[in-house]
Amino acid sequence: LSDRLTETFRNLRTKGKLTPADVDGTVREIRRALLDADVALVVVKEFTGKVRERALGDEVNKALNPAQQVVQIVNEELVAILGGQQRRLQFAKTAPTVIMLAGLQGSGKTTFAGKLAKQLEKEGHTPLLVAADLQRPNAVNQLQVVAQQAGAAVYAPEPGNGVGDPVRVARDGVETARRQQHDVVIIDTAGRLGVDAELMKQASNIRTAVDPDEVLFVIDAMSGQDAVNTAKAFQEGVDFTGVVLSKLDGDSKGGAALSVTSITGRPIIYASTGEGLDDLEAFHPDRMASRILDLGDILTLIEQAQTAFDEAEAMKMAEKLATEQFTLEDFLDQLQQMKKMGSMKKMLGMLPGMGQMKQQLDNFDDKEIDRTEAIIRSMTVAERRNPKVLNGSRRLRIARGSGMTVTDVNQLVQRFDQAAKMMKTVARGGVPNIPGMGPM
Ligand code: GDP
Ligand code: MG
Repeated sequence: LSDRLTETFRNLRTKGKLTPADVDGTVREIRRALLDADVALVVVKEFTGKVRERALGDEVNKALNPAQQVVQIVNEELVAILGGQQRRLQFAKTAPTVIMLAGLQGSGKTTFAGKLAKQLEKEGHTPLLVAADLQRPNAVNQLQVVAQQAGAAVYAPEPGNGVGDPVRVARDGVETARRQQHDVVIIDTAGRLGVDAELMKQASNIRTAVDPDEVLFVIDAMSGQDAVNTAKAFQEGVDFTGVVLSKLDGDSKGGAALSVTSITGRPIIYASTGEGLDDLEAFHPDRMASRILDLGDILTLIEQAQTAFDEAEAMKMAEKLATEQFTLEDFLDQLQQMKKMGSMKKMLGMLPGMGQMKQQLDNFDDKEIDRTEAIIRSMTVAERRNPKVLNGSRRLRIARGSGMTVTDVNQLVQRFDQAAKMMKTVARGGVPNIPGMGPM
């Protein structure tokens, strides 16, 4: 998220011992980075205080690589605030499990209700969605549409049945679920644009009436500094057992996540990442920590790589990396593996230091891989194994052979050099740092 933080960590890496000044400088940049990510000031203060204390302590002093230790501390503390372990939805011992949603208007409650219903359906549950938002004229209809898309049943008040009482609808909804043997009930509720006493009272009354197993507070990841006040108000007014962070697909770094969990002590259970009903993920504190500090979602990357690479290929690559003989042939292999992995964009987006490269990533398309392949295929085996021999006339020949320009060839060679450096870093167990690496 900030080039300066990346820079700071990079500078630290070259140091043997850390002085208090080194630590202070780093803490200052972390502070700035967190504020940039819209983490609330109180949370930033407490967090940097903890990091500073640990960074000046013995564990860093005695560490073989103090800088790496500091990065680790930062990561550990972030993960701790975010709830440490991943927390799953709690089901009731006797069905139905009652899940109530709360949150401001537009935070994503109704959308989430549909997403959750769809996911639960897939897992073999039989959710019933209850339309207890009677505030907005078309709220009931919106839930009905979403439910239909999710293939889930809905309980809604009869149309034209007066203003309606959301508490009664919620209670009747749960009763209906019991009668019709739905094992989960998801109650969608009304929200206002801002925190509002009447809204809180309504939500609180619904809670009292249906005694839910989970009350999930849905908050927009973009809500920035407001997140703290909104979360506090909902904790006092309704209280909740877990958090859903919505719209994480936006530009937000998710600083709100840190603020909300730190202030309320309630775990984030789900991350909502798009308008489609399949855009729902279990929340991973460790991955969020990486995202907030832009260290790259390495875990996810590794996971994806593991499913795509077959083991033998991975072994071969590991040997190559270990002996540092990464060639253009390997690069070609890798490009093909990457194609298997699906969206390149998504993958590059998870690499560290890529935060600032969003623009370039957006311009990137998979055809780029095909062009790169064409160039490499126009090289002789000797050239692929040792790109250093690529002089002007060879580059011209390759450009002609592949139907590209010499500039294209030059760019590829340059990108390969950078990729090779990155691979070596990874092979040595380090965190790659690849600022300025163009779209591969
Ligand atoms: P509610 O008022 O809390 O019920 O919020 P809605 O579910 O109606 O969502 C408000 C708007 O945000 C709608 O336009 C949704 O399509 C959109 N929305 C909800 N969740 C997400 C999300 O995870 N990502 C994105 N990009 N948009 C979302
Ligand atoms: Mg709604």
